[in-house]
Amino acid sequence: MLNIALFGAPGAGKGTQSELIMKKHNLVYISTGNILREEIKSGTQLGFAAKSIIEAGGLVSDEIIVQIIEKKITSNPDAPGFLFDGFPRTFVQAYILEGLLLKMHTSLTCLLFLDVSPKESLKRLLNRAKTSGRSDDTEVVIKNRLKEYKEKTAPVAQFYKDQGLFFPVDGTGSVEEIYTSLEEIINKELRKVLFNVVLLGYPGAGRGTQARKLADKYNLVYLSTGEMLKEEIRKDSEVGKLVKAVYDKGDIVSDEIVIKLIEKHIQSNPEASGFIFKGFPRTLVQAYILDGLLRKIHSSISFTLDIQCPTLELIKRLDARGKTERRMSYDLETSTIVHRLEQHERICLPVVDYYRKQGKMTVVNGKGNPEDVWSRIKEPAEKAWRRAR
Ligand code: AMP
Repeated sequence: MLNIALFGAPGAGKGTQSELIMKKHNLVYISTGNILREEIKSGTQLGFAAKSIIEAGGLVSDEIIVQIIEKKITSNPDAPGFLFDGFPRTFVQAYILEGLLLKMHTSLTCLLFLDVSPKESLKRLLNRAKTSGRSDDTEVVIKNRLKEYKEKTAPVAQFYKDQGLFFPVDGTGSVEEIYTSLEEIINKELRKVLFNVVLLGYPGAGRGTQARKLADKYNLVYLSTGEMLKEEIRKDSEVGKLVKAVYDKGDIVSDEIVIKLIEKHIQSNPEASGFIFKGFPRTLVQAYILDGLLRKIHSSISFTLDIQCPTLELIKRLDARGKTERRMSYDLETSTIVHRLEQHERICLPVVDYYRKQGKMTVVNGKGNPEDVWSRIKEPAEKAWRRAR
């Protein structure tokens, strides 16, 4: 998701640039000023509460702002991203924005600052006042709005500087020049947005095959916990010895071991365009862990895929794999195969539910050969990719 906040003094040109950015990236535009003016025009209770404050050039309460933003966000559940204009305007609102985006399992991509001197802002606003018809475009009110900006809004910049999300742009060039500079920043930041995929499905559903196809297509780092663990067993490391004993019983390896391995692989791929996880998360606890691991690198899950296949077909495939080079130690006995399938049903289904509730789950039919399955995956994956970037 692309989430942008436009920041700057009144008159800096946020409204003008917003229109161009919104259209280019198909974002839902949230201008708190516009929404408040609409509320006043419609004579709502909220508008009534805001009217006298706006007309005096003050800032409307954070309680009112959170209400209007939340309403706008929840009424656009399929938005590819949001463009905030005139918000956040206080420290409290910066925290509110964090919380609202967290609730949507996303985060702010960048805060773009249109840098214009107070003198220039005053000049532009006085000029706009001749035609705008806005009740807060009078000299006294404008001066108060600029004072509020200096005292309450400008310090919010530090919040975003600390997070590396603050990007200043000279706001005094032509509209096109400023827009070009803003687009350069947006595109650079977009390239840093990771596309993270989770592949779910029963053992034998074809997750590994499809994961590799997705990894190739989107240049993702493929992280299969099964293969990482197999590698530890091959190296006969301390972890490998522990894992082998667990595997031989057909059980699931402890979270501590898996977390360490995944974290190691994430850290050793700082240039990745995203990660594709296979065999993890396997439990609800691991789903939370993965959210935490990705949050540490300012990222989140973009897309989860559940490949479904009838049980008999799964047993046949695992049994056949047990007779090839690709076999895992747990493919060898029918009783172990059945035990893993049972365990999967009991533990992994809540994970499917977890992602379904977040609206990030796509279910595909896993019957047929790998090319058939891939043809069903391509389109939803492409959609999720476009949505993420
Ligand atoms: P704007 O159209 O962004 O210049 O906003 C016009 C007026 O609406 C401001 O002077 C404030 O009184 C009020 N307002 C808009 N956004 C906010 C906000 N995020 N927090 C508090 N007041 C706001």
